Amino acid sequence: MRGPRSEELYSRSKRLTPGGVSSPVRAFSPNPLFISEGRGSRIRDVDSNEYVDLCMAYGPLIAGHACPEVVEAAEKAVAKGTVYGAPSEPELELIETITSQMPSCDMVRLACSGTEATMHAIRLARGYTGKDGIVKINGGFHGAHDAVLIAAGSGSAQGVPGSAGVPADAVRNTYAVEYNDASMLESLLDGNEDVAAVIMEPVLGNVGVVPPQKGYLEDVRRITREHGVLLIFDEVITGFRLSDGGAQKMLGVTPDLTTMGKIIGGGFPAGAFGGRKDIMENVAPAGKVYAAGTFAGNPVSAAAGCALLKHMRGRYDALNAATARLVASLRDSLEDSGAEGCINSVGSMFSIGIGAESIRNGTEAQGVDRKAFASLFAHMLDSGVYLPPSALEVEFMSSAHTDDDARIVSEAFDAFFRGRKA
Ligand SMILES: *Cc1c(COP(=O)(O)O)cnc(C)c1O
Repeated sequence: MRGPRSEELYSRSKRLTPGGVSSPVRAFSPNPLFISEGRGSRIRDVDSNEYVDLCMAYGPLIAGHACPEVVEAAEKAVAKGTVYGAPSEPELELIETITSQMPSCDMVRLACSGTEATMHAIRLARGYTGKDGIVKINGGFHGAHDAVLIAAGSGSAQGVPGSAGVPADAVRNTYAVEYNDASMLESLLDGNEDVAAVIMEPVLGNVGVVPPQKGYLEDVRRITREHGVLLIFDEVITGFRLSDGGAQKMLGVTPDLTTMGKIIGGGFPAGAFGGRKDIMENVAPAGKVYAAGTFAGNPVSAAAGCALLKHMRGRYDALNAATARLVASLRDSLEDSGAEGCINSVGSMFSIGIGAESIRNGTEAQGVDRKAFASLFAHMLDSGVYLPPSALEVEFMSSAHTDDDARIVSEAFDAFFRGRKA
């Protein structure tokens, strides 16, 4: 579909790699498109179809594909060797940038992915507090390691494995509460002395976008402090996306630890965790909590990340305003059509919840009409717009998206809902 070359590559790929993709969300029916090139706001597939990209690799590409300054920095770094197994200046520069811009980060340790960052941050919280329990948010996503892979459920229940192969013991100390419900968190912590940390996305970004209600994050901050529980903001998506200091700067709530990824690698693999000095000094070799990686602090990722963060300085207001204009137009189309649905948005992130009147937490997000979204996805592809293929993923804007791109998206979206009305 969409061209013979993607179809052919997929049929070869699915014989040799599970589902034909390197990460599950990339698969869609009848076949995923193989991408040959990305530039600015556009991607091109191997059949030479061009799309306005609103998936943007699920978050890293805040300045679009192949941002010239980032490409230049990466090329320069590559020419000097790609990994040393020893400290280098680009990684120090990235660490200095993060610590100067992220309110919670006195110190930072680099890693290779968001998954590694949250895995290390959770181990650090456990090592620092001497407690084993962690609390996550129902619908919150923290990567693909055992401790955070619990089944979405009724909340506050002890974790049940969310994947085959996760031992029950690995999630026995993982609890889940509902987002935007501080009293649920408070009663869980009242009844449980063994919690090391609450790990949460300050703005949910893996069940669509779900913004915090007024006072919620402030309540979470107060409650965790009162209970001697560390607060970890997983800003793998929101860090350097919602502002130059992440969600924590935009929303004015400072966690104890922060995890990052996606944008900080400038489109290359990267992750990081940081926070209060007295906690971070427990990481090896300064302290006794083990965290390590052959490619951690990779000089090419670090050079590209620094270039991207520098490029983005001063661009957030315009990007967020452009997103707000697009979202307003999409909301108009949805409303005019009389279809039930909501469009949640924060900063340069938005999500389309067809069939849901409002989405305030992970449970409500499960109420979206996946079938209707699949039709929208197919219609948008036919109209030259590449959305993420899942109803629960987020649409990302970049500073490379133009008014023309926004018009193409609006018109295609409007045509879809007008079509359904008729
Ligand atoms: C993407 C994501 C991760 C995992 O990062 P990877 O680099 O894919 O391992 C962790 N937390 C959040 C909030 C994410 O969106």
